[in-house]
Amino acid sequence: MRYISTRGQAPVLTFEEAMLSGLARDGGLYVPETIPHMSAAHIRALHGLSYEDTAFRVMRPFVGDGFTDEVFADLIAKAYAGFGHNARAPLVQLAPGHFLLELFHGPTLAFKDFAMQLIGQLFQEALERRGERVTIVGATSGDTGSAAIEAFKGLDNVDVFILFPHGRVSEVQRRQMTTPTEANVHALALDGDFDDCQARLKDMFNDFAFRDGVRLAGVNSINWARVLAQVVYYFSSAVSLGAPDRTVSFTVPTGNFGDIFAGYIAKRMGLPIDRLVVATNQNDILHRCLSSGDYRTSQVHPSISPSMDIQVSSNFERALFDAYSRDGAAVAQLMGELKAGGFSVSQGAMQALREHFDSGRVSEEETLDTILLAQTTMGELLCPHSAVGVRVAEKQRKADTPMITLATAHPAKFPDAVEKASGLRPPLPKRMADLYERPERVTRVANDLAALESLITERLPK
Ligand SMILES: *Cc1c(COP(=O)(O)O)cnc(C)c1O
Repeated sequence: MRYISTRGQAPVLTFEEAMLSGLARDGGLYVPETIPHMSAAHIRALHGLSYEDTAFRVMRPFVGDGFTDEVFADLIAKAYAGFGHNARAPLVQLAPGHFLLELFHGPTLAFKDFAMQLIGQLFQEALERRGERVTIVGATSGDTGSAAIEAFKGLDNVDVFILFPHGRVSEVQRRQMTTPTEANVHALALDGDFDDCQARLKDMFNDFAFRDGVRLAGVNSINWARVLAQVVYYFSSAVSLGAPDRTVSFTVPTGNFGDIFAGYIAKRMGLPIDRLVVATNQNDILHRCLSSGDYRTSQVHPSISPSMDIQVSSNFERALFDAYSRDGAAVAQLMGELKAGGFSVSQGAMQALREHFDSGRVSEEETLDTILLAQTTMGELLCPHSAVGVRVAEKQRKADTPMITLATAHPAKFPDAVEKASGLRPPLPKRMADLYERPERVTRVANDLAALESLITERLPK
């Protein structure tokens, strides 16, 4: 399997190379050259398998020869062993025809653990075999950073630096990033918002002298291996509701478009999915784009679902690449226009997007209402992100197709919002109950590329 850039100008890479490099050198994102197909018989054969066995069968065709079957299966087993639920991604019923996919049983209580725990294992194996060392720099709206630190802390061949927007993450998120004691972990609080963090990260990748000097690697959702790991739970949940002999739809609380793009890949692989519904909070660039065809950035308005406070949805570029019939030059042109504020999606491309995607936007008040409603009528205490999803799903689902809404974080990760909505303060699971007592370690940094690059260089082991 070979990987190509969405902007058409970067070298073609293997899975392992694409995973280790993150962003393509032409500024684009890596995607597989072709999407492997899973037949109905193949999908039917997933019935009753463990999450790990499903993961192996779904991901194997994308991975190529870099990892043997045995090694790959072993890394999958290690990745999910630390989850607090044997099903890994259990499906619970909210209402007739509406199901919730609980993706928050990993070590940092958000769905990002599904990808990050696996990526940690894959990186370690690949780097050890190559005798190489990399510097991982990640930008986070809160959950990616904690998941990355949890996955990479203490590994021999990796230093991990996480940029998060100062004062704009929840206390649990911050503590998950600032309390690990391993020397290879560096939490950096940047004076700016998430888009600033993401922009500085992209600048570092485009500064080739720095990028090559520190052997920069990225684990943001632009990393193809992360998208791939997330494809698995679309299969496991759809199969448990009867796929391939029953079609389902998904609603996904969305920020960077990584999670829902994984659903699109599952559909392209042959999983019978009717609609993929994007659910956004008040930062609604995706909803506006899918409604009007106009992708235009505006200011980020901090919300009670902070992991979706994003105005530039990086992975949307991958969807555009397909919608523009894989024309890298056309995508490069759009991304150039984005630097000046935005672009209009062509009619043909909009039609292609609408074949798969719907969207909805949820206000702060509706989010709080939904947390209360779900707690009193569905028996489920939702985190604010998951509530955004449930709200949109309840509005858009059709009677004849089961809807699966992705619950992207545990309510205890956002206790203030949940308490405000429901009067209940969700406790942390026992395995992390002492989080509030551990000492914190964090460096405050300016929103300045040169300063960041020199700080990172100084911190690396000599
Ligand atoms: C990251 C995150 C999202 C958004 O996921 P994307 O892949 O960026 O669309 C939603 N909810 C939670 C809790 C998250 O951590």
